[in-house]
Amino acid sequence: MAPKAGSSPLRLGRSDLRGDDEEDDVKPNRPIARQIALTAAHPRPRGEDGDDAPSLARRRLLGLLPTLAVGCVARRTGADAATGPRPASMPLEALLDRVVARVSDTAGSLAARSAHAREVTLADLVRFHGHPCDGLMIAARGLALGLAELFGDGPVDRTDLAGATNASVCYGDVLGYLTGARHRCYGSITVDAKLGDEWLLLHRATGDAVRVAHRPGVKPARLVEQEAALRAATCPSELIAEVGSLQRELSERVWIAPARELFTVERITFPYDPGKLRADVVKRDCQTAVGAP
Ligand SMILES: [Zn+2]
Repeated sequence: MAPKAGSSPLRLGRSDLRGDDEEDDVKPNRPIARQIALTAAHPRPRGEDGDDAPSLARRRLLGLLPTLAVGCVARRTGADAATGPRPASMPLEALLDRVVARVSDTAGSLAARSAHAREVTLADLVRFHGHPCDGLMIAARGLALGLAELFGDGPVDRTDLAGATNASVCYGDVLGYLTGARHRCYGSITVDAKLGDEWLLLHRATGDAVRVAHRPGVKPARLVEQEAALRAATCPSELIAEVGSLQRELSERVWIAPARELFTVERITFPYDPGKLRADVVKRDCQTAVGAP
């Protein structure tokens, strides 16, 4: 179902929502320091990547080669070394530049909607959540797909969403960040421990709701087994290293493989109380004489 026209004042191209199957904007050759600086301070204009001179791109790629080599070695030895060597992490870090969604918010706590959408990247989610775990990476990819289903070409209206997920801290943090939904006071996030690897979203203005779930087998059986073993143990170095390596491999895969090969998206009737509007978005539809920042 197409999103209702006018549900948001900002209209952007569908390609701006990165939960779909566009795989061409993986930029493993972008230095991570520059990625984070760009996304934190200056929202990245569309097409910027095309401005890189080929020679510069080659230099960046060459600059990453030592890290790639270290990562490969660490991945091979991570499960075997008794001392628990640092697991591979390069490919995951190279993905942090990915834009998960464009979002719109109010310009202030008692103000209308901002005239500008923001890009939320994986790096933003990691800063909030604290680590780039597989749960974060999976939830971000799945939720991006569900949000694209609800908002189509437009930015995600973070003033008007409710959502539900299981008790996973990682899933819940990503759900809250991407939707603007809140558990406290407003009840627009439901935590339902009976849910599996799935996320439910409701766009209150339209009543449209979706359920996104990752397909069976996306998470390797070996990882499930070893995570359970690690939770039951104390601090086994080898097992910690193996779980870390397996989680990173999964994290890389979910942001490289086509999203619809990994997730199902279905229209649903949202089965929970959608909560109420946050106090800081109640003036979102006010017409202001001065343009909102
Ligand atoms: Zn996590």
